[in-house]
Amino acid sequence: MVKTPFVTKEQLDEIVKTYPTPFHLYDEKGIRQTARDLKEAFSWNEGFREYFAVKATPTPAILKILKEEGCGVDCSSLTELIMSERCGFADGDSIMFSSNETPEEEFILADKLGAYINLDDITHIDFLKEACGIPERICCRYNPGGFFNLGTDIMDNPGDAKYGMTKAQMFEAFKRLKKEGVKEFGIHSFLASNTVSNEYYPVLASILFNLAVELHENLDVHIDFINLSGGVGIPYRPDQEPNDIFAIGKGVQEAYEKILVPAGMGDVKLKTELGRFMTGPHGHLVVKAIHEKHIYKEYIGVDACAVNLMRPAMYGAYHHITVMGKENAPCDHVYDVVGSLCENNDKFAIDRKLPKIDIGDLLVIHDTGAHGFAMGYNYNGKLKSAELLLQEDGGCRMIRRPETVEDYFATVEGFDF
Ligand SMILES: *Cc1c(COP(=O)(O)O)cnc(C)c1O
Repeated sequence: MVKTPFVTKEQLDEIVKTYPTPFHLYDEKGIRQTARDLKEAFSWNEGFREYFAVKATPTPAILKILKEEGCGVDCSSLTELIMSERCGFADGDSIMFSSNETPEEEFILADKLGAYINLDDITHIDFLKEACGIPERICCRYNPGGFFNLGTDIMDNPGDAKYGMTKAQMFEAFKRLKKEGVKEFGIHSFLASNTVSNEYYPVLASILFNLAVELHENLDVHIDFINLSGGVGIPYRPDQEPNDIFAIGKGVQEAYEKILVPAGMGDVKLKTELGRFMTGPHGHLVVKAIHEKHIYKEYIGVDACAVNLMRPAMYGAYHHITVMGKENAPCDHVYDVVGSLCENNDKFAIDRKLPKIDIGDLLVIHDTGAHGFAMGYNYNGKLKSAELLLQEDGGCRMIRRPETVEDYFATVEGFDF
């Protein structure tokens, strides 16, 4: 599939007059459409709701859009909880708290905000009881261990992951929690990340549905919801086929009707905690070519760096690049497109075939709407960029200003700076 930016060169030329590069740009229309598609794909399940994984795009304007589309939020830290409260999600049903190695004050705040608490470990039962008491509604995170293989190139290694409880611990935990007065139970699991496959959710759902039936039948507990968590991916590469969320919803429905309904559990609500799938394709990192260098290889230096987008440096991740205005030019040059960090892994692309790039060209780095800005850091004294929203009406506004040097110095203590 050809990857085309959601913004035109003409629009970008206009935007950079007001907001200089580099910046993250988000597409409101695309985010809303994805949220609506997901909702429709699961509309057969009465209690279905998406809890957007805040860590993917912790930007209040984005959270507000998703709230308008009916989503809740999934948090895993104190700051994310506070952000969600300030964005109006603390209504008792709109925050999922899926944390691990959780500090006491985070459980206390989650409880106060009426969040669904998702326990990562059996020992957290006592820890939570000590911190704020056991609520009547609680979720436990399951880790089936071993190796998870979809039979395609998608696999992951839950047995090597720090998250969740073993099956025996799930039974133990539910027994304990029932004794502690819990009335409504949830089950959560996250087995594979960025799955570009319509099979992941249905396979995961079957595992969780079977476990739910066993827990219900053996312990006489009411399973209120099953949380399929995140992990539905996006096609970062142009040769990948995007997920079909309607096929995914149908696959989960078939498992639901085969496993839960015959067990008399047709009232189980489904929840998701998608991050990447919701916003990933609807963000671009927009940068400008400021240098070209010819040594043993050809380099294009841009005005952003790994501080603005860490995934290539951290995971060797592929992010597609479009040179604006040269969409139809032949890709007859091979470049490393690099940032300015004193780190040789600060490369947005390596040996990438691209059209000839001239100084001043605008480059769109695709699929940065999730785990992009969010992973930013300040190495080399580099500052985080602005975030802009391309509105549905075609207008553009800043939703986070760029960091300043004074922001960077603001935490210095004991020294007149
Ligand atoms: C990161 C995370 C998500 C979101 O994952 P995506 O791959 O962005 O969909 C959801 N739930 C939990 C607990 C997570 O840690």
